[in-house]
Amino acid sequence: MPPTRTVLQDASERDALNAAAFDAAPWPSLVFSPDAKVLVANEAAEMLFGQALAGLSRRPLLSMLSPESELATLFAQAWREGGVARRSAVEVAILGAPSFEAEIAFAALPGGRMLGTFYVESQGSRLERASEALRSVAGMGRTLAHEIKNPLAGIRGAAQLLKLGASPADTPLAQVIVDEVDRIRRLVDQVEAFSDERVTAKRAVNIHRVLDRVRTLVASALGGEVQFADAYDPSLPMALGDEDQLVQIFLNVVKNAAEAALERGDGRGEVTIATGYRPGARVQAGRQGWRNAPLEVRVLDNGPGVPADLRHRLFDAFVTTKDRGMGLGLTLVAKLVDSHGGLIELESEPGRTVFHILLPIAPDAMSYPES
Ligand code: ADP
Repeated sequence: MPPTRTVLQDASERDALNAAAFDAAPWPSLVFSPDAKVLVANEAAEMLFGQALAGLSRRPLLSMLSPESELATLFAQAWREGGVARRSAVEVAILGAPSFEAEIAFAALPGGRMLGTFYVESQGSRLERASEALRSVAGMGRTLAHEIKNPLAGIRGAAQLLKLGASPADTPLAQVIVDEVDRIRRLVDQVEAFSDERVTAKRAVNIHRVLDRVRTLVASALGGEVQFADAYDPSLPMALGDEDQLVQIFLNVVKNAAEAALERGDGRGEVTIATGYRPGARVQAGRQGWRNAPLEVRVLDNGPGVPADLRHRLFDAFVTTKDRGMGLGLTLVAKLVDSHGGLIELESEPGRTVFHILLPIAPDAMSYPES
């Protein structure tokens, strides 16, 4: 049986249908001219690339990419070898557009042209995969935490005893054991937090009270080295959530922001916590369909920004740039925000990083926080 695309005998009708199909395809697709500039973009590509498309139609793709990037290598390979070059999890960082990760296929077309298709993983499926991975970490975490904590307590106690009778030269060594055991204990506690499968008791929570508590905790740990400011919306309704878990979420985000601000090293580090109401903000919550999450908390810092190569895996476990970091803080934040039916968005550039956390509000619209 001939392939469907040859069924239509009328060439102009066929061309019109091909063009309509190209335009309506859900995957962003671009057709490149022989000099590697964008000739045609479908609607999905226009939405994905936005302003950057104008640049891509004027300048060859390779001039807008870092030469060592995987995207540039794949494009050059497709050009050299013809046929189809396909690769998954490629970082797409085109000058002037926010970077993202996609599976990419370049296919040579007649006339020296090239079709590029970008299969972008939806945030929903990425989150689903992350929560699957977390569930297995959770099971392992429960068992490991239990097995590790007991001997740790013994090691710590023994090291403290050794310290008491140690010579001055050996005392710091005993202290190293105590400190490192404490670090392992903190790691185990964090891994254990993933195993916490208690059903969250969601009730109306005054988010400003949560944020004040977090701010006091983080500010006192830093001893005044970072300035804190707030910009609260006083008319904000109550959030719907578990107060302890909300403290945990914001503690991790605000602590990261303060540590980033501190990294400036010029004494001008600043963290601002702002709240607001974003009407119409909705989150897709698995099988429960769309849910409203209009309460927004923004945690802003003037630190160096999240490194570009880290952005797409920031919420994965064990991703850290800190010497003593564990890379579990944001993984836990993602899990807890997800279980609240909320959403996290990140904007970051050197000198300005903002974590936006969107949360649902308590069903009783009259439950405004006491001022
Ligand atoms: P940890 O704090 O133990 O490293 P997290 O999961 O909390 O673990 O954070 C992971 C990484 O994300 C950090 O090591 C840091 O590189 C980056 N990060 C998080 N928040 C910020 C921020 N506000 N500015 C810059 N980088 C950040």
